[in-house]
Amino acid sequence: MTHQLIPAQITTLKSALRYRFDALREEVRQDLLKSDDDRSAMLADRVRDVGDESLADLIVDLDLADTDRDLEELRDVEAALGRINLGTYGMCVHCGGPIPVERLTAFPTAKRCQPCQRMHEKTYAQRTQATL
Ligand SMILES: [Zn+2]
Repeated sequence: MTHQLIPAQITTLKSALRYRFDALREEVRQDLLKSDDDRSAMLADRVRDVGDESLADLIVDLDLADTDRDLEELRDVEAALGRINLGTYGMCVHCGGPIPVERLTAFPTAKRCQPCQRMHEKTYAQRTQATL
């Protein structure tokens, strides 16, 4: 059984998340610059200056297929950084149990432990099938 994260592990994961955040922010910025939409070009300027919070909210109004995937990940990264600030990072949002550090190292944005994630995916898959 894996124990609670120690501060040094959180620091490491936090810098991994911040690094990912910066990379995604730059990707989104490039996507916005490629767009012909005037609003996108304007946003691209703001994306460069925006802080940690709510970058996704800033861009959510724009309907940009290219950036959707990046934005989704960006939202996950923002949420994970938020959980670090709240002190709930590394706890499964479903059962409240600790998420093993190996899993967090592989997926720093993980919000469920593996059993809960499997159950979540199974439930989701069943629901999708049920609508067929
Ligand atoms: Zn769980």
